[in-house]
Amino acid sequence: MSLANQKPRSFDCHMHTPLCGHSFGEPEEYVDTAVRRGIDLLCFTCHIPMAVEGFGQEGTRMRLDQLPLYRDKIAAAAAYGRERGVEVLCGIEAEIFPEEEPLEEMKAFLERESFDFVLGSLHHMLPLFRHWLYRNGHHDDRGIVAAYFRTLAGAAATGRYDSLAHPDVIRLYGTLSEPFDPAAHEDVIKEALDGIAESGVCLEINTSGRIKGDYIAHPDPLIMKWALERAIPFTIGSDSHTPERVGDGFREVLADARTLGLSALHYFREGRRHRLPFSPEMAGSGIA
Ligand SMILES: [Zn+2]
Ligand SMILES: [Zn+2]
Repeated sequence: MSLANQKPRSFDCHMHTPLCGHSFGEPEEYVDTAVRRGIDLLCFTCHIPMAVEGFGQEGTRMRLDQLPLYRDKIAAAAAYGRERGVEVLCGIEAEIFPEEEPLEEMKAFLERESFDFVLGSLHHMLPLFRHWLYRNGHHDDRGIVAAYFRTLAGAAATGRYDSLAHPDVIRLYGTLSEPFDPAAHEDVIKEALDGIAESGVCLEINTSGRIKGDYIAHPDPLIMKWALERAIPFTIGSDSHTPERVGDGFREVLADARTLGLSALHYFREGRRHRLPFSPEMAGSGIA
C-alpha cells in the first residue's frame, strides 16, 4: 500500500528521535501512538547538526556523522508505518539566528541535503542568542521581544524555512521583568507578521507550550488571530520528545483555533506545501 499519494486526514509535523540526546523512544513507538490516536501522517524534525559552539552539541542535537543513521531510522519507521496506515516523513528542525555568519555551515548542509520539511526555530535560550542580545544592547523586555520577532521575520524572508516553529517561544523565560504579553508588543509583532505574510512562510501551532511555562499552545491566541487576519498559513506539531505526546492537545488547540478563524492546516512533502481544509478528523479520531 503506497501512502504517498494519499491525502492524510490528520498530521503531526514536529517530533524528535533519541539522536538529539534529550528525546526518548524510537520512531516506531511514535507511529504506534499515531495509530492509536488516528493520526495518519508524521514528520520527524530532529534538531539539525550545528558545528558552531553556542548552539549546543551533545544532548542538544545529532552530530553531522549521524545524519545517515537519522535517515535510516526514519526509513525504518516509514516502512513500519506503511503497514499500519501512517505515512512517515523526514524533516529537520533548523536554527534561526539574527546574523548569517554562524549559520554558514547549516546553510551549506541544507543546500546539500533534502528534507520533506524544514522547520525554523529561534531557540532564544541558547547562549549564542543571549550573547547576541547583550552585545546588541537589547537589555530590556521591549528590546528583547522586538529583536526576537524581527529575527523571525528576517528568517522568513530568506526562504530557507517552510514553517517557523513555536513562534512565540520567547515567552518561556525570555523576558526579564514582565511575563510576556503580546498586547504589550502589538506593534513589533504585527510588523513581523506583515513580513512573514509577505514571505508565504507558515507559522506553527505547537502544542508543547501546553506542558511548559504558562501552559498554553504556541502561538498565543492573540498572535494567532493577527496571523489569521494576514492569511498566514499554519502547520501543526506536538514537538514530541516522547512517543506518548504525538498529537497531544490537538483536539483542544484546534477547537480554539477554529473559533479564531483557522480554516486549514498545511503539511510538506518533498518541500512542497499541501493544504488540508479544516475537519474534525484533524485532531485524530482515536480515543487513546
Ligand atoms: Zn528538542
Ligand atoms: Zn522541536
